[in-house]
Amino acid sequence: MHMYEFKNFSEVMVERILKDYLPQANLPCKCEKCQADIAAFALNRLPPRYYVSLRGEVLTNFEAQMVPDKARVLAEIVAAAQVVAAYPSHPLEEK
Ligand SMILES: [Zn+2]
Repeated sequence: MHMYEFKNFSEVMVERILKDYLPQANLPCKCEKCQADIAAFALNRLPPRYYVSLRGEVLTNFEAQMVPDKARVLAEIVAAAQVVAAYPSHPLEEK
């Protein structure tokens, strides 16, 4: 069994920052699919940053704060959210 695994730091950051961003975002839909679309779109525009992690190890908040380009990650998420809001990958329900 492998003790170590690769993780993409950018992926961890996108998940965290997206979670903070969503409640205040003005989006037509915030379902799981749209959230995943936003994350995927942002990740395609961010450089991957792989690190080796002990399996099951969770990144601490302190480590997450060490990211130098948090602002860039947030900017990509905001841009991605605008694209997904304009072109949702599923039909929106009429309200
Ligand atoms: Zn949706």
